[in-house]
Amino acid sequence: MKDQFEREISYLRVSITDLCNLRCRYCMPDGVCQKRHEDILSFEEIAEIVAAAAALGVRKVRVTGGEPLVRRGCAELCRMLADIDGIEEIDLTTNGTLLPRYAKELKAAGVTRVNISVDSLDPEKYADITGGGRLQDALDGIRAAQEAGLTPVKLNAVLIGGFNDDEIPAFVEHTRRAPIELRFIELMPMGGRFGPEAYLPGETVLERVPELVPVPHDGGVARLYRLPDGQGRVGLISPLSRHFCASCNRLRLTSEGHLKPCLHSSAEINVRGLHGDALLDTLRRAIREKPRQHGVLDADHRSEAGRTMNTIGG
Ligand code: SAM
Ligand code: SF4
Repeated sequence: MKDQFEREISYLRVSITDLCNLRCRYCMPDGVCQKRHEDILSFEEIAEIVAAAAALGVRKVRVTGGEPLVRRGCAELCRMLADIDGIEEIDLTTNGTLLPRYAKELKAAGVTRVNISVDSLDPEKYADITGGGRLQDALDGIRAAQEAGLTPVKLNAVLIGGFNDDEIPAFVEHTRRAPIELRFIELMPMGGRFGPEAYLPGETVLERVPELVPVPHDGGVARLYRLPDGQGRVGLISPLSRHFCASCNRLRLTSEGHLKPCLHSSAEINVRGLHGDALLDTLRRAIREKPRQHGVLDADHRSEAGRTMNTIGG
């Protein structure tokens, strides 16, 4: 179904938990966030909402969180979603640390591929940004995804000035021999624990690695580049310096059942408890109410999302 600005809404991001086994400083608030089990959608409820979205033209679903793999039965949910008529692709965004345990099961359940978040290649810095995570766990997760055929693996790194900008060349170097897509994401001001001084525009990557050459756009949100002899690609995702609202084809569903027509707006529509035509009508309304673009968003203007990223899913 098209929204009122002629954008075909074909992509639903589904957050299945706010919880995470890491505490990235740009994503999670201080303190513990705990919802009661009954406050979050059951797998059956998620599948019903996804089936209704599929009936309206959604073809691709991304399962996210918090960390989706900390919710027990995540692979089973993926299987349920993959079986829905009309759904052509199920992807997962994960910090990768639990992939050694679940990668094969996810592949067997019908997951197409995974995006894995790794913000530093230095074990101490990784532990620092993630609040105690082990880099080796994430690297083992990348290998497990590749071995299970959850490919092409995309790696996400949030660009953080003064933290990992010195690692840009080392990150890019990994794309020379490995057929991975490494995506640098601009830090979004979502209420995490970094101030405006940490924001760096995606262009910084091109300044630090001038030999990168552009490659044709593949329809996603990233601008794509590669090293002249590189096997992999480098993507720049620039929600602040070059927002992509004009081609935004997404809806988001939070773990408690709120549809978010726009990541950076506080507008939410509760679909929990709706069935049949009422559910379809509410989904149509969410698509109709998708704004042309979000409000001012830059290093000095915090997102109007009204939530931290772990409760939306990226
Ligand atoms: N736990 C999974 C992970 O880390 O990939 C999935 C959820 S996480 C919220 C989804 C994506 O959002 C990750 O790639 C993460 O780096 C990104 N993210 C979180 N907070 C962000 C922020 N303030 N700015 C930019 N990206 C952010
Ligand atoms: Fe957890 Fe992902 Fe947020 Fe890091 S970015 S705290 S891994 S949800």
